[in-house]
Amino acid sequence: MSKISFKTWKQVVEFHSPIKKGELDTQTIEVRQDPLTGHQSVLNEALRGKVSFAFPETDYDYLQRRMDDTREQCFMCDGKWRMTSPRYPERLLPEGRLEKGEVVLFPNLFPLAPYHAVVMVGEKHGRTLDDFSPSLLFDAFQVSVEFIRRCFKADSETPYFTINANFMPPAGSSIMHPHIQIIGSPLPSTHHRLLLEKSLAYHQEKDSCYFTDLVETEKESGQRWLGEIGRSSWFTAFSPIGSNEVNAVWSRNANFLEWDDDDVQMMAEGISRTLLAYHELKFSSFNFSCFSGPLGKSSPEFRCFLRLINRQNMHLHYRTDDFYLQKLLKDEMIIYPPEYLASLIRKKIC
Ligand SMILES: [Zn+2]
Repeated sequence: MSKISFKTWKQVVEFHSPIKKGELDTQTIEVRQDPLTGHQSVLNEALRGKVSFAFPETDYDYLQRRMDDTREQCFMCDGKWRMTSPRYPERLLPEGRLEKGEVVLFPNLFPLAPYHAVVMVGEKHGRTLDDFSPSLLFDAFQVSVEFIRRCFKADSETPYFTINANFMPPAGSSIMHPHIQIIGSPLPSTHHRLLLEKSLAYHQEKDSCYFTDLVETEKESGQRWLGEIGRSSWFTAFSPIGSNEVNAVWSRNANFLEWDDDDVQMMAEGISRTLLAYHELKFSSFNFSCFSGPLGKSSPEFRCFLRLINRQNMHLHYRTDDFYLQKLLKDEMIIYPPEYLASLIRKKIC
């Protein structure tokens, strides 16, 4: 028997539809609940085949125009970051910034946490999702993990770190130039806290780790399974908290201090391949957050966990994908059913 069970409820809605010449239309809605957090998402099968209604595909001419129009003022392009980006104090980073290949890490000018770094991902100002190579992402994640190590060495009272991205304005990014952000705080974020508390409660009740049980269950069922890259496991989220959500679990690592270059490489490969699959679906925007257990602590209940989601695509008459359902009711609307999404992405991961 599977270690984790996935709860769903079906609900039926009836109304006379003008699309069916006033006939009675019956639609079935499926509500799904995340087994760890209880987060709910809603799937209406009638939306299948009408994706562009809720999620218009990318307008590549508009995207190119936005890239061209913003390049001149970009503070990162053409090495301008050397003059315009801040530097860390010597006690934290004697170098001021961390550089590797085409990537550079520096402090956020307006931090939202005691440690809030920005990593410029490559010198190129505009990229589409087929243009994030594993080697570029490897350098970006390697400097991120190195930064986290240095922070913990300087300040062991700050154990809660995430590695995050906003890509393109619909994902909340204020600049077009690809970058990621590292947040480190003595307090976890609201969702990070929920993951930590719920996985601890699960461990206390079942004497088992939720994340490794989830991997085992998803692998066994295969419906949402994408594949394994090294010791990381990739699958689509049963009850997503964002559009087209892909998850990964590092089965061996409870926190970022336990990562070596192989673990960094797994994240780079998995994200690069997923973004390529997103690109083939004509998606152009994303967010991700990779959650770590508290640094310096043995956490048998936790494993590093990635959430990667789409946001609305780049097109002129942009409409946000967060409405009251997500922002205030904290549910999510499923556009591609996760099992179908897995069939679209799987060939890139395997
Ligand atoms: Zn730029």
